[in-house]
Amino acid sequence: MYDVIIIGGGPAGSTLARLLGDRLKGLILDQRDLGRSFAGGFEKCCGGLLAPDAQEMLARFGLGLPKSVLTGPQLFAVRTIDLVSGQQRYYPRNYINVSREAFDRWLVSLLPQQVDSLWGANFLGFSQVSEAVEVSYIYGGQRQKALTRILVGADGALSRVRAGLGPGSKPRSYVALQEWFEVSEPMPYFSAVFDPAITDFYAWMIPKDQMLLVGAAIPAGTDVLARFALLKQKLHGQGFDLGNSVRRRGTSLLRPLAGHGLSRGAGQVVLIGEAAGWVSPSSAEGISYAFRSALALARALDKGCEGVLRRYRRLTRGLGLNILGKAAKCPPMYWPLLRRLAMGSGLLSIEIVE
Ligand SMILES: Cc1cc2nc3c(=O)[nH]c(=O)nc-3n(C[C@H](O)[C@H](O)[C@H](O)COP(=O)(O)OP(=O)(O)OC[C@H]3O[C@@H](n4cnc5c(N)ncnc54)[C@H](O)[C@@H]3O)c2cc1C
Repeated sequence: MYDVIIIGGGPAGSTLARLLGDRLKGLILDQRDLGRSFAGGFEKCCGGLLAPDAQEMLARFGLGLPKSVLTGPQLFAVRTIDLVSGQQRYYPRNYINVSREAFDRWLVSLLPQQVDSLWGANFLGFSQVSEAVEVSYIYGGQRQKALTRILVGADGALSRVRAGLGPGSKPRSYVALQEWFEVSEPMPYFSAVFDPAITDFYAWMIPKDQMLLVGAAIPAGTDVLARFALLKQKLHGQGFDLGNSVRRRGTSLLRPLAGHGLSRGAGQVVLIGEAAGWVSPSSAEGISYAFRSALALARALDKGCEGVLRRYRRLTRGLGLNILGKAAKCPPMYWPLLRRLAMGSGLLSIEIVE
């Protein structure tokens, strides 16, 4: 019988597991083999940029990034490209460019020994058994079960834990596609690309050593592949040499516009990170939210398992307001006319010296 079972060893789950320490008996499991260096297989589809909010959380945790998780170049500007109006602007921003698989494995390497871990374990579902939650998963080819007082869903946008709570409103859903291209010269910016024919959200280009990562978050239910092909064609038309395609990955991405569809859980089941919908609706930045929601739950668990969801709701009120604040930033970024005016004004932008 565990106090806490955490499904998902991404930034949210591994942070919670680390903060549990030896106060509670915990188990964390993930379908990824996070206990060793990445050697292919299932990988998290992510841009791997640590935004200032995520950096601040690492500082609050007293953590410094090891060199092994970094990739290059480090980025100090966002280049915004409006494919319809042809406008381009550069804005100063400090991102840390990391290898997402290496980053997740580094976070997992910080787990205390008292927390049990199962890597390469696939969570199947849960049911209520008397006072406890019974968790089913497949590990080593065998179907297994474990009991817990609190089940934590930290299993990302496609959360099976959240699905197990029954139908409910969910944030707006996008399909995020990313394709890696070989390039000779890494470009020194993170580019954000806007075009309503492709998406009402945005597309991006991120340099990763000798690769360029081209991605887009495209509304679910539309012809995602055709829109992604159109993006590449338009980028090519703008003079971007995308080179050889090496691989392509896709996943789901949630966008809690106006906070719609956030869920903190129910009964003895608590959701953190993107499983709860904690992700910025303006930028899709989610790592800082994974950290903050995990910290809130760790604090809620300080007083034990009884009443934890109530305390977690209270401790994440500020995070809910933060999401509303990010949603308020969307019109000047995503309404074509306002974006044209904002970019045209040059406000807060910088000149690039050739
Ligand atoms: C294409 C893309 C690019 C992004 N780029 C950035 C970026 O540059 N910077 C940023 O801050 N945010 C970015 N985000 C958002 C960010 O990736 C997420 O918000 C963040 O990873 C959420 O962390 P998490 O721990 O909640 O979930 P995740 O990181 O998704 O972790 C969930 C974990 O649960 C595991 N899991 C899922 N289902 C099961 C199961 N059934 N059994 C066992 N394990 C399971 C998964 O293997 C995974 O390890 C991006 C998102 C996408 C889709």
